[in-house]
Amino acid sequence: KIRLTNVVKEFETFRAVHGVSLDIESGELVALLGPSGSGKTTILRMVAGLEYADAGVIYFGDENATDIPVRERGVGFVFQHYALFPHMTVGENIAFGMKVSKVRRTPQAIAERVGELLDLVQLGGLRGRFPGQISGGQRQRVALARALAVDPRVLLLDEPFGALDANVRRDLRRWLRKIHDELGITTLFVTHDQEEALDLADRVVILNKGRIVQEGTPEAVCRNPADAFVMNFLGDAN
Ligand code: ATP
Repeated sequence: KIRLTNVVKEFETFRAVHGVSLDIESGELVALLGPSGSGKTTILRMVAGLEYADAGVIYFGDENATDIPVRERGVGFVFQHYALFPHMTVGENIAFGMKVSKVRRTPQAIAERVGELLDLVQLGGLRGRFPGQISGGQRQRVALARALAVDPRVLLLDEPFGALDANVRRDLRRWLRKIHDELGITTLFVTHDQEEALDLADRVVILNKGRIVQEGTPEAVCRNPADAFVMNFLGDAN
């Protein structure tokens, strides 16, 4: 379980995150949804340990996250622009995290694990291709396999399907949901796309200007928008 309590982040004089409190249960798939500049990425980066909070605490279980070195937090990332290494094959990209991990694996164990992950993301045939030789949707599936390679406790996804066209996005959503359900991994997903959040998440957390304006199941927020902002924002999906 991850818990944020009154988390604040400022960039010089600008307050990007205003005292956000949020619980993410183990195994839950939560979407952080909001317009550009609402603080979604900043929250994700603080959970990852790539930014520090100016006030408030982030807990991983009972531990204050600041006491856990970034590499030991057990987070896997997929970012929209978190490009694969272009000079490495798909298989080598997936193996990369395992090679640099503290957990020692034999080359054979790494090769087997790469095979399992490629099966999971259904890209078994593409192991030897380079990123430039596969589609954008396939690249994001490889990025997900790479993130999962080190058995993270938490998966953080920042607009992972942002650059792709609508049909591919829809396929990837279904497919991410399936993998999430299979692995039961706690997942925090950032998007500005209402349809994506409502379609994919167990719970949607709606942000505006660095504050949570509403959280709940997709059904609950659609049925009962908290205010005019949420109503307009969700309405944009239709
Ligand atoms: P987007 O969908 O556009 O990425 P977001 O909701 O993820 O938006 P953030 O990237 O978290 O929003 O940014 C929140 C606010 O903080 C924005 O106004 C942004 O300009 C500002 N901000 C983010 N990072 C920095 C930084 N390193 N220095 C200064 N300001 C920043």
